[in-house]
Amino acid sequence: MKPLIAGNWKMNGLAASIAQIESLIAKFDGAVPDDREVVICPPATLVATMATQFSDEAIQIGGQDCHANTNGAHTGDISAAMLSDAGAAFVIVGHSERRADHGENDAIVKAKAKAVLLAGLTPIICVGETEADRKAGRALDIVGMQLDGSVPDTEDEIVIAYEPVWAIGTGLTPTIEDIAEMHNFIRSKVSQGTRLLYGGSVKAKNAEEILAVANVNGALVGGASLQAEDFYPIVMAAPGGS
Ligand code: PEP
Repeated sequence: MKPLIAGNWKMNGLAASIAQIESLIAKFDGAVPDDREVVICPPATLVATMATQFSDEAIQIGGQDCHANTNGAHTGDISAAMLSDAGAAFVIVGHSERRADHGENDAIVKAKAKAVLLAGLTPIICVGETEADRKAGRALDIVGMQLDGSVPDTEDEIVIAYEPVWAIGTGLTPTIEDIAEMHNFIRSKVSQGTRLLYGGSVKAKNAEEILAVANVNGALVGGASLQAEDFYPIVMAAPGGS
């Protein structure tokens, strides 16, 4: 399976930040190698510009969220159809920051994932337990419930990102055994062809070990995706696939 390394810029990035992607492409000697995929999810303000500018270098562009409807009276929201129109190929849905900051539950996440599929794009559906869940030994139960509630029944391509909430932006990561256990569990619930990303404090120093775990088919990277010099070694740490 071809690994997918996705960068989530969150609410970071102005027009000047596009230079980071130019630096990244220079490090790749002009284009992302064929044996891996890279997607950058910048703020919505940069999606169209970046999708146009980087269409030849195999850098794919994604949105960070979308509304479940195609259009309508939803001031400030953006639809999957609009992201598609702007050149996006992927959309992150259900990120824990959306679940926490905007009260998005599994049903909302599933509706958004369906909207992404309807627009012809690939959803990156995020799931993950809190620290309290893990300490209580409930990590698998919680993630199982999130998968049941958030993942649409579809033959179309979807991507699942396992992101323990307590590992996001903290510098903490689960043990390799815990990542392996969770990814094996998720694999048992989704089809063989679905790529499973690990996310949560992936850095150059831990990427190789994490990306070598069975059923880890890539990474969703936040902070370390903002600078080319941090992101490039993570992309290259993934074992190549076809
Ligand atoms: C994320 O926001 O999806 C994420 C994984 O962030 P970080 O890599 O900074 O922990």
